Formats: sequence, structure tokens, C-alpha cells
Amino acid sequence: MSTGLAIEQQWARVRGRLRDEVGEAAFRSWLKPLTLAEVDDGEVRITVPTRFMRDWVMTHYADRIRALWSVENGEIQSVDIVVAPTRTPAPARPESPADSAAEPTLEPVQSALAGPNDSTADIGAPLDPRFTFENFVVGKPNELAHAAARRVADAATVTFNPLFLYGGVGLGKTHLMHAIAWHIRKKHPGRRVLYLSAEKFMYQFIRALRYKDTMSFKEMFRSVDVLMIDDVQFISGKDSTQEEFFHTFNALVDQNRQVIVSADKSPSDLDGMEERLRSRLGWGLVADIHPTTYELRLGILQAKAEQQRAQIPLKVLEYLAHKISSNVRELEGALNRIVAHAELVGRPITLESTQELLYDLLRASDRRVTIDEIQKKVAEHYNIKLADMHSARRARSVARPRQVAMYLAKQLTARSLPEIGRKFGGRDHTTVMHAVKKIEELCAADRSFAEDVELLRRMLES
Ligand code: ADP
Ligand code: MG
Repeated sequence: MSTGLAIEQQWARVRGRLRDEVGEAAFRSWLKPLTLAEVDDGEVRITVPTRFMRDWVMTHYADRIRALWSVENGEIQSVDIVVAPTRTPAPARPESPADSAAEPTLEPVQSALAGPNDSTADIGAPLDPRFTFENFVVGKPNELAHAAARRVADAATVTFNPLFLYGGVGLGKTHLMHAIAWHIRKKHPGRRVLYLSAEKFMYQFIRALRYKDTMSFKEMFRSVDVLMIDDVQFISGKDSTQEEFFHTFNALVDQNRQVIVSADKSPSDLDGMEERLRSRLGWGLVADIHPTTYELRLGILQAKAEQQRAQIPLKVLEYLAHKISSNVRELEGALNRIVAHAELVGRPITLESTQELLYDLLRASDRRVTIDEIQKKVAEHYNIKLADMHSARRARSVARPRQVAMYLAKQLTARSLPEIGRKFGGRDHTTVMHAVKKIEELCAADRSFAEDVELLRRMLES
């Protein structure tokens, strides 16, 4: 074993290297407080003042620390990071790692870096490298949410708190949150950003309760600069988690730390949430993401095709943008499928091959829904006569529902525009085209209208 002095020098060099690698700001926030406690039998033991820091260092720097140590000293096998309230080296410790749990401030679960069973290392969730602002396509339906996300990511001070993003499945909420995190991480590496799902938040909380360790839980969540909780609707009806979230939330907002929350509904529509939490969530900026429009879908497809360097005819992209309107995730799925197929068989992508390949996906709704059914449902929904679907009446009260029905016919069936026109009292295909465009515009501009249309679509598809 090397002498104490040699070890200290090695540690100094490890720290020096870390500082060069991560930069001054991150080093000061995270690595400077690390203290070398002891080296024994090939294991380095390092202490940190708080559990939050321990988890953070484990997640972000552990591998690097271990690698740098092994360069300095070939005998080092593992690096262990433990919580110790003071920075003075801890007194002599038991040899066996499992025994270290006897000390009150240590983790209940042994946490050697080399150990495979460290479940606490990642309190946050990993960020998807593709979910950046650069890769986010902005259109009418998401421009407010995007602008708000950018503002929060760029802001030097907290302007609105919380930022509440909401919208349907697959419309880009998680993407925007990750984008904020990436941006802050790059521009302000010293700021502590924590992103996780509400589900994971609950899991951490329950775990803390089980280990009677809610103090560390509180400390961990209340010491961040930016807290992002994704899919907060998950904690609806989960009373004690909500309670804890509420307190965490208040503590952070009181300290002027940024909180960002996403959900599938607006704060006021979050059933099963306590009233005080609902109202608190609505205090900052509430930004919704509307269902996509044809233009946005086409834009996203073009961007993704370009990223993948795939040669896809515009006709095919237009076809997909028309046919797959549920959400962006499905759009991406369809695109990936045709690109993968084209690569595999080595033939260029055509409209025909696309239709063939996506047959099941596109037919899924065609098979069931007919224009007659659509007309019937829509007429019922808006309380107009079925005959008005075919009539020449132009009053808004019947013309608008008729346009909705045409729009849905275009979306949910494989009928062409002239065919649809014929079914609506022999109208021209340009009338149908106009209706589709009109409804898309209205959906983008009016959230409750969009939800209405979405509801009709779901009823028809189910
Ligand atoms: P949500 O969290 O709202 O359910 P996600 O953020 O997971 O949705 O988005 C689903 C997928 O669609 C992701 O792959 C995301 O990158 C992509 N996506 C959504 N909106 C956009 C957009 N405006 N531009 C580019 N990609 C998008
Ligand atoms: Mg999501």
C-alpha cells in the first residue's frame, strides 16, 4: 500500500484533472467539497457533505473519478462515496462495506461505485440527447410552449414560476423539458437541474418513507436550482405524495428556484389533485401544446428525414402528414419504419411502397369508420339534423359541424377529396379541401374546439 503522503498527492492530481475536465463552475459546485477519507485495500473512500451531492456525484462523475484514480494508482479497484456531515476525514471505519450502514448518516444500501446494485445513484432521469431545442420544430400549435421553455432556459432570473406545460400524448412536452435541461447544463454548468417523472418522484418519496429518511429526501429536492417534474397527473389521487410535492414546490418557489411541471391537462382540470396544489400550479405561466396541424407535421417530418439523411419524396411526407395526425410519436414511428425498410431492401421510398408498408397502421381506422358513421356522430354531437350534412344550408351552426365531419372523413378514411365531397351532398373537392384547412386552423387557435374534435375522433375510432 502506498504511503499517506503519496495518496494525498494522487488525490490532488485527480482533483486537478477533474477541474480541467469539467470546468471551474461545475468543479466548485460538485467536486471541491469532496474529501478523501481513506484508502484501504484497493478502495478509495470519499466523503461528501450531503446525500444530494452524493447522488449527483455518483451519477455524473463517478466513472471519471474512478478512471482517474486508476491512472494514478494501479492498486485502486473501487471508489466509494459516502455522506459525512463534516468535511474532516471520518474516524476509522469498519472494513466491510456492508457494515458502513451502521453509521446513521450513511446510505441504508451500500453504495460502492463498482457495486451493481446501487439504486440511488440516479435520482434524476437521464436526458435524451435528441431532445434539444435545435431538434424541436416550432409551429402554431406549440409556439407558446416553445417560447416559454426558451425563456426559462435562457433567463438569468426566475420570471414565472412554475412553468406549467400541458398537452396530449406525444406532442412534445418531454422533449421541451429535456431541451431546457440541456440548455442550462451547457450554459450554466454550475446550476443544479433535476429532471424526473412524477412517478419517479413518488418512488423516491416512498423509498424515503420506508427507510425513515425523509430528511435526506427533502434536502435532496430542495437544494436544486431547477426542478422539473414530468407528467405530474400521475400523482393525482396519491395524497401523501401530493402533499410532499406541494411542500417541495413551495420551498423551491420561496427560494426563487425555478420549477417546471408538465401534465396532460391544465391545472384546473387535474382531477384528483388537491385544490391548493391545483391553484398553486396555475400561478406561473401555463402554456398548452395544441394538437398538431398538417403544416407542423410536415415540418417535423422534413426535419426528421433530413436528420436521418433519408431521401424521401415530398409526396410521401405529405401523405404521412395527412394520414397520421394523432401525435408526433406515431408520425416518427411511421417515418422510421419506411426508412428502415428502404435501407433493408435497398430500394428508394415511393408513395406505393409507403402505403403498402403502413397498410396496417393506416387501415386500422379505415376499416371501421365510414363517412356515414362520421356524419351521424358529428350531427349528434353538435345537435343538428343528419340531413344538414348533405343540405346546402350555410348557417354557421350547420356549416361548421359539416366541416368538422369532412375533416374527420379525410383523417379517418381512405376516401379521396372528390369522394368525400360527393358524400356531402355532391360538393366539390375544393370545398372539402377548404373545410380541412379551416378545421386545422381552428384547432390550432382554439383549444376547446381542438379538444372537441379530438374527442369526436376518439369516439369514432374506438
Ligand atoms: P409528450 O411528452 O408530450 O408525450 P414527447 O416529448 O415524448 O411527447 O414527444 C414524442 C416524440 O415526438 C419525441 O420523439 C419528440 O422528439 C417528438 N416531437 C414532438 N414534438 C416535436 C416537435 N415539435 N419537433 C420535433 N420533434 C417533436
Ligand atoms: Mg412525456
